[in-house]
Amino acid sequence: MEKEMRELTQLLNKYRHDYYTNDNPSVSDAEYDKLYRQLVKLEEAYPEFIAKDSPTQGVGGLILSGFEKYQHPYPLYSLQDAFSYEELLTFDRRVKAEFPKATYIVELKIDGLSISLTYEKGKLVTGATRGDGSVGENITENLKKLKDIPRTLSEPLDITVRGEAYMSRQSFQQINQERQENGQTEFANPRNAAAGTLRQLDTSIVGKRNLASFLYQEASPSQELNQEGVLKKLKRLGFAVNDRYLMTSSMEDIWHFIEEIESEREKLSYEIDGIVIKVNNLAMQEELGFTIKAPRWAIAYKFPAEEKEATLLSVDWTIGRTGVLTPTANLTPVQLAGTTVSRATLHNVDYIAEKDIRVGDRVIVYKAGDIIPAVLRVVSDKRSSQQAMVIPKLCPSCGSDLVHLEEEVALRCINPLCPSLIQRSLEHFASRNAMNIAGLGPASVEKLYKAELIKDVADLYRLDLESLLTLEGIKEKSAEKLLSAIEESKEKSADKLLFGLGIRHVGAKASKLLLEEFESLENLIDASESAIASIDGLGSVIANSIHEYFAKKESHQLIAELKEVGVNLKYLGKRVDKTAQLFGMTVVLTGKLEQMNRNDAKAKLEELGAKVTSSVSKKTDLVIAGSEAGSKLDKARSLGIEIQDEEWLLNV
Ligand code: NAD
Repeated sequence: MEKEMRELTQLLNKYRHDYYTNDNPSVSDAEYDKLYRQLVKLEEAYPEFIAKDSPTQGVGGLILSGFEKYQHPYPLYSLQDAFSYEELLTFDRRVKAEFPKATYIVELKIDGLSISLTYEKGKLVTGATRGDGSVGENITENLKKLKDIPRTLSEPLDITVRGEAYMSRQSFQQINQERQENGQTEFANPRNAAAGTLRQLDTSIVGKRNLASFLYQEASPSQELNQEGVLKKLKRLGFAVNDRYLMTSSMEDIWHFIEEIESEREKLSYEIDGIVIKVNNLAMQEELGFTIKAPRWAIAYKFPAEEKEATLLSVDWTIGRTGVLTPTANLTPVQLAGTTVSRATLHNVDYIAEKDIRVGDRVIVYKAGDIIPAVLRVVSDKRSSQQAMVIPKLCPSCGSDLVHLEEEVALRCINPLCPSLIQRSLEHFASRNAMNIAGLGPASVEKLYKAELIKDVADLYRLDLESLLTLEGIKEKSAEKLLSAIEESKEKSADKLLFGLGIRHVGAKASKLLLEEFESLENLIDASESAIASIDGLGSVIANSIHEYFAKKESHQLIAELKEVGVNLKYLGKRVDKTAQLFGMTVVLTGKLEQMNRNDAKAKLEELGAKVTSSVSKKTDLVIAGSEAGSKLDKARSLGIEIQDEEWLLNV
């Protein structure tokens, strides 16, 4: 049994690491919760085998090295959880045994990440993540980017408050779309997107991602008598407080509330993963106290996992923009998180092989992050003998041989003339982060392609009203609109064009860095592979991919045609001033600054051409140390890095 518990602990700790530290879960929450409960049961039966690092023994979450550690003045806890009405009744009995008259406040359980904010005399001084509950990451600058977190409270209080930072469903979808277009991996769900964003070292990215918050707890000693009073106080002070809550002492009422919320869940603009029941009276809370991990005065009811069983009827194989063969399952329809699902992703051929998924199987379907349906696994005891899935050898679009490139697991079509690949590339070219041609989505691309009006991106610029009007369903007004959007795209900065070409590994950010450096697409074509690889932020993989792309005659031809039709090939974005005093230097700010605030100091350094990072390493060129600078300054000294003070920065 000890071995089994050890293995379970190790597995859960791996999942915790992926979830909390990498913000990239490898299993669904339901799967995690199931294993966690198994471990709890075993630990109850064999307490002598409880490991020190068991997830039941502490609050999850490690500190990322990029941020300063922050010692919480008051510890943060997790919550006990319940998955059934019976478990809620047990909780109620325990509470009522001590306080028969206890009233509960029932709040929504926001699916984001815990944050702790400390104010001194009403001014925000620190914002931090939960971390392991006693030490979190200092993410003050990132939290300042949330518009609903007040920098100054309506009263000059010393107070520490707790809440949840989250990403709305709308922002999540938008960001994932952008990430898809940029060739970046998509976030699994809004929680991970919010956590990944707040633990970004680049504060400006946080500003662009529209995070929001709900505050619900006063962690420093409160003058209020109950939790409802705390919520009202937080609202008065200027925080965003969720006003959907229930006050009751009846578990039946709570169960009705749960059912009501569950049915409305999909309509909320943010995700919730359950509700939290708290004893309302703060004095009672204090009496009830805490376990090592969670308060005894609260419990989280988690909504059942959005998983359903369906039959896998068939698989559609399609080719994406990069030529990757992508399987989509056709299923018997099931109701999942408020929608009818009859199609779900099977990710890739490797996934199918690993999970041995076969047509005819009963499979578990779930909504990853409650958004994109996916096939999770096969219900193997329901399998009647079936053949292993037949993986196509030929491209379903053009019929050419599919290949494994290099070490990749994906199967690809590498025929540059594959209709599917061309259409996806045209869609990518027109997408928002590339040439942003409104009206050129998948449906119109397909029409234009099938009518042989376009076969590559240069053809877009040769379209005219007359030919567009020959297409079925296209009216004069929308044709004119499309033509003017195409015309406008000619003036886009060349980094958008480069990104739009869809060269492997070359995302929007790399395109920008390349054009900042080489100023025009023509210069980039002439650049050597080593010159490209030496750009900070790029590397040999991108350099090689660009080089290979421009080594082809057709690529030259395409650029020449684009030039001929009037597409701009020059970089029109902000230029880097290479003569700036700190150009190319990596600088770390540490300690307390007396005359400048941190943001101003950072802005000045960036203006001087420096890249400001938060941890000192061999790559650091300069450290600006204010008063009370600690370990970073010591590290800089030990590495022999140049150190300057605030005065120096004011005078450069
Ligand atoms: P939790 O997320 O289940 O509950 C505690 C948290 O709820 C608090 O820290 C707080 O941040 C949040 N919360 C939201 N609204 C609240 C409100 N109104 N009042 C109080 N708190 C509120 O517990 P946890 O310890 O943070 O995480 C454990 C859970 O995380 C697991 O049950 C699982 O669902 C998930 N997890 C998943 C994986 C995975 O691999 N998928 C791995 C680890 C953890």
